[in-house]
Amino acid sequence: MTFSYQTALVWLRRDLRLQDHAAFYHALKTSRAVVAVFIFDDDILAELPRDDRRVDFIWQSLAALKAELQRHGGDVLVRRGQPRARIPELAAELGAQAVFCNRDYEPAAIARDAEVASLLAERGVAFHDSKDQVVFERDEILTAAGKPFTVFTPYKNAWLKRLDPFHLKAYPVARYLANLQPRPPEPMPTLAEIGFQPSDLASLPITPGAAGADALFADFARRIGHYKTVRDYPAIKGVSYLSAHLRFGTISIRQLAAFAWHDGGEGAMCWLGELIWRDFYQQILWHRPDAAGRAFKREYENLAFPNRRDWFDAWREGRTGYPLVDAAMRQLNHSGYMHNRLRMVAASFLVKDLLVDWRWGERCFAEKLLDFDLAANNGGWQWAASTGCDAQPYFRIFNPVSQSEKFDADGRFIRRYLPEIAALPDKLLHAPWTATREQLAAAGVRLGVDYPYPVVDHATQRQLALELFKRG
Ligand SMILES: Cc1cc2nc3c(=O)[nH]c(=O)nc-3n(C[C@H](O)[C@H](O)[C@H](O)COP(=O)(O)OP(=O)(O)OC[C@H]3O[C@@H](n4cnc5c(N)ncnc54)[C@H](O)[C@@H]3O)c2cc1C
Repeated sequence: MTFSYQTALVWLRRDLRLQDHAAFYHALKTSRAVVAVFIFDDDILAELPRDDRRVDFIWQSLAALKAELQRHGGDVLVRRGQPRARIPELAAELGAQAVFCNRDYEPAAIARDAEVASLLAERGVAFHDSKDQVVFERDEILTAAGKPFTVFTPYKNAWLKRLDPFHLKAYPVARYLANLQPRPPEPMPTLAEIGFQPSDLASLPITPGAAGADALFADFARRIGHYKTVRDYPAIKGVSYLSAHLRFGTISIRQLAAFAWHDGGEGAMCWLGELIWRDFYQQILWHRPDAAGRAFKREYENLAFPNRRDWFDAWREGRTGYPLVDAAMRQLNHSGYMHNRLRMVAASFLVKDLLVDWRWGERCFAEKLLDFDLAANNGGWQWAASTGCDAQPYFRIFNPVSQSEKFDADGRFIRRYLPEIAALPDKLLHAPWTATREQLAAAGVRLGVDYPYPVVDHATQRQLALELFKRG
């Protein structure tokens, strides 16, 4: 066997698994001795609280991956610092002639990778990046006129038309594991050594690492047939809960898309549609990096949001007086997860009822979501705020009470997060302020004491939102 490289590095980022991994595959196939490395990036860590769940999730996923590679005689070297310094340093230290990684489409990551690639080039080290975290990337799916799609349904149709089994084929990494560089196992730095402390992740129903992802997916695969009918009801276990694993690449997108595609049933195809939304927003971010931080539709860049801080705080802390919105925000605060229907309702409420700039909400979600992903979060917020590509039109404004009556009719979800109003009858639970004094007393609820009066009146705010958007 002839190799292109004696020694190569695989630089892991949001792809913390060994199975079906593009960069591992390419490195192992072309190099005699492959070493994997993960850098805890100082620039990213500096902005995070010391008990950030994402750091914990990464740390635990890495520990599992490290153990897996050690079983095969290799290792993952875990370092802290700035990749632009650390990667060239490590390449020199190990005598690597090439660095392999999987592509990232966020503007900061693109800039970082370009800088690392050029620093490596100065030292004669090759830099190879591959598509891995999406099925179709960058400009692989374009309109007939060769332009990026900005509307989802035609994008999805073109995506499905372009798809053939090759695109979903797994990279057979296992076949080449003999090319891992044999190394004495290196201990994993503790969370404290990288400046963090354990989070409350262990108390949440999510297990980091590829094994956690596989177990979650096995469970969902049994339920996928019902996905279309139950996915909108937050009290029901209807969705996959795989978003954090997709975010950190502890499971392969090809494996998931292939499963849904081969199943081909109504539930599976509906779920595949959600995976296509994921690709859609990634390509939007790649084509329009300016949309991270600015309205995709320029005419809505300067909407005159009043931005009341006290209303924003009430929303963030789950005390707006609108039970579904409050339960949603408490789910986020408690678990770092929020159901998709609730993300839409909570985002719409912040922007169109409380008239707060969508960027404030986007930032809040970015701080709290375990699955935070710039492309999906920005896309979701701009969709809800009507400023994005293929967004809901500005005059479509969710009514937080009817959304609640429709998607949590028996109040099971609300009761889980708002015990203080749990004794209210189902009918009143969605709008406690409509209850009579006697009904409130019978349920042991003191409005304004145990649970707030609504911070705003929906009908009034709806009118104000329409005027704000009309003014542009
Ligand atoms: C305001 C707002 C903010 C959001 N922020 C994020 C975010 O930061 N990270 C994130 O992964 N998703 C985000 N989403 C999309 C969606 O809400 C989550 O992906 C989903 O709730 C995760 O739960 P799940 O894994 O059980 O989803 P499932 O319903 O099982 O879907 C499977 C996967 O498809 C992808 N997906 C589903 N819906 C979308 C979507 N609308 N856009 C892009 N990808 C999607 C996710 O990777 C998800 O894990 C956001 C949506 C909104 C409205």
